[in-house]
Amino acid sequence: MRRFFIEESKITGPMISITGSDAAHIKKVLRMKSGDRIGLFDGRGFEYEARIENLLAGSVEVSIIKRFLSASESPVQIIVAQALLKDKKMDILARQLTEIGVARLIPFTSIRSVPRPDKKRLSARRKRWEKIAIEALKQCRRGHVTKIGETITFNDIIKINDECDLKIVFWENESKPVSDAVQQVHDRHYRKILAVLGSEGGFSEKEIEDARACGFVTASLGPRILRAETAAVAACTILQYLFGDMGLKKS
Ligand code: SAH
Repeated sequence: MRRFFIEESKITGPMISITGSDAAHIKKVLRMKSGDRIGLFDGRGFEYEARIENLLAGSVEVSIIKRFLSASESPVQIIVAQALLKDKKMDILARQLTEIGVARLIPFTSIRSVPRPDKKRLSARRKRWEKIAIEALKQCRRGHVTKIGETITFNDIIKINDECDLKIVFWENESKPVSDAVQQVHDRHYRKILAVLGSEGGFSEKEIEDARACGFVTASLGPRILRAETAAVAACTILQYLFGDMGLKKS
């Protein structure tokens, strides 16, 4: 069944109006007719089965048949704090981390990250990353969109508590793997994890010291130095494998 994203605010009753490019796609590309079924998802964890009722000039009216909780969310909430990367690397990350099932992406500035862009530019970039995350959501059939946070500083990041039961910095100078750095790996105990990754320039010793003082553990991603954009994907894959829903049997 074809799936479309619908803003939660548009779901006000049993009949919903789909507008814009999705409406045009349903009519002109898919050539769907009244009576055909489509899937909808709101990016907040709900999915819907709907029936096309009316094909109008600028919209398609559908009726909701069924509402259900999305089954594609991981049991572990992974929050990724990523030092700002250059060029389009953050765009790519927003898409890849959505696919891997990351709950939230928080960009931050650090000692060795690119010079801090101005506020206006950051707000435009954040909007772009949000859009990319929604696009990725459609493709990967996830129920929840990866929330994109405002860009904050490294010092703000290490003060985040947010009831995270594991706070971990992936540090290029660490030699202990994740499984050593954390305990109870086999119990799949962690439900909310904050994973921090550096910029192209990595972290300073002082930043690591400060993070440790705030309760962070440090872990390695193996003996090779990964490019920042590769590191975030590798780190999240490992965390989803150990604690989430990648590679392990559902219990
Ligand atoms: N310029 C640094 C590397 C930075 S890599 C140097 O040459 O040492 C960018 C980020 O990716 C790092 O800050 C870290 O968060 C992550 N990363 C890359 N390779 C890693 C590894 N082997 N172990 C842990 N983290 C790694």
